[in-house]
Amino acid sequence: MNRRLFASNRKTPLLFTAAVLACCMLLCACNKGTPKSGRNTSDGEKLEGSDTAAVTTTSGTTSAATTATDDTQPYVDRDYTQIYIPDSTPYKKITLDGVKDHHFIADDFCYIETERSFLFLDKDIELPGDFADNVDAIINELENQLGISACPDSFDYCGVTDNSIYYGGFNPWEGWCTGKKIPIFLMVDRESKGLISCATASDAVLVIYECFSDELWNSVPEYRDNPWRRFDYMDYDSIAHELTHTITERNCDLTDILTEGIAQYMAGTVIDALADDYPSIGEYKEKTEPYDFSVPEAVNADNAERIFIEDYNTLTAMERGPEYVYGKYLYNFLSEEYGADYFSRLNTYITANGLHYDYGYYDGDATVKYAEAIKSIFGDDVFTKFGSWCVANNHLQE
Ligand SMILES: [Zn+2]
Repeated sequence: MNRRLFASNRKTPLLFTAAVLACCMLLCACNKGTPKSGRNTSDGEKLEGSDTAAVTTTSGTTSAATTATDDTQPYVDRDYTQIYIPDSTPYKKITLDGVKDHHFIADDFCYIETERSFLFLDKDIELPGDFADNVDAIINELENQLGISACPDSFDYCGVTDNSIYYGGFNPWEGWCTGKKIPIFLMVDRESKGLISCATASDAVLVIYECFSDELWNSVPEYRDNPWRRFDYMDYDSIAHELTHTITERNCDLTDILTEGIAQYMAGTVIDALADDYPSIGEYKEKTEPYDFSVPEAVNADNAERIFIEDYNTLTAMERGPEYVYGKYLYNFLSEEYGADYFSRLNTYITANGLHYDYGYYDGDATVKYAEAIKSIFGDDVFTKFGSWCVANNHLQE
């Protein structure tokens, strides 16, 4: 089942006030055991790097880190915590050279294996040479700040998600397994359908205009005629947001406010933490400024807990946004008031007590349990203190 909720980015560029499409969390099942669809193994043009030589290509066949098994039957019982790449894949393994000003343009499907992830590139994706390094830095920093693992033993790993819906019904990565590394799909919305980034525990799907090649961009009138829709810096905020979803969802279930809030909050704090050491992430911070959604009701000591329990469940899809900003400030408050391990404490409580929540499906009884969890961890007065903090700091007041 694919179901997406829309939301806008937490930041806007300095020059534009229009919110940028960014995120949602997508619920879908992994593809373990799903029937094998037709595969076009002849679709394997050779890849070429750009003239700046940002990359080297190597054979896409089994590397030392992979386990060679029968790729004609990719959905066999296997250890899904291990990497598996079908021997017959026609798609090349790419290595970026780490230089920001060097760019790689994919003229066929291809992939990059990093220390923490697999990047699956759609055709016409263009990446700066430091992209993979920055993604790994974000994953490492998310683990550091969240106090949880991006690859917990408790997670039920499965093969690479069937995202053929993005590829016109064709799945280039059928039968692949990335082990405990996070599959990250870099997709092109080549028909300007309004595709947006999203994430699950299994993977993150990034639809980022700044990753579209110039040739692709200029071939689509909706893009070419609206150059303001993309910027001259990479949207690492959206990347951090989506990867937060993947990492947190691998560890525990969260309500909508807690799900979007931690992604919003982490996107800001991770960028702040990495900006000095990673120039492209620093560039993002320098060229954008914080942006908050409005809320339908100013938050105070008297209503903060009720609003948390209601989880903005009556808002329509087009009104989504308050849960992102309420959640962001709730975590901001918890961090300031109770210390840096606020999320790992919440995660430990949720898993120890078996709390479950289906993102996007409002369940009032369940949100009460999450409110009780937060009070058990941080004190019965946590929501009244949070409401007072919001008023004192002029957060969530309009
Ligand atoms: Zn999100």
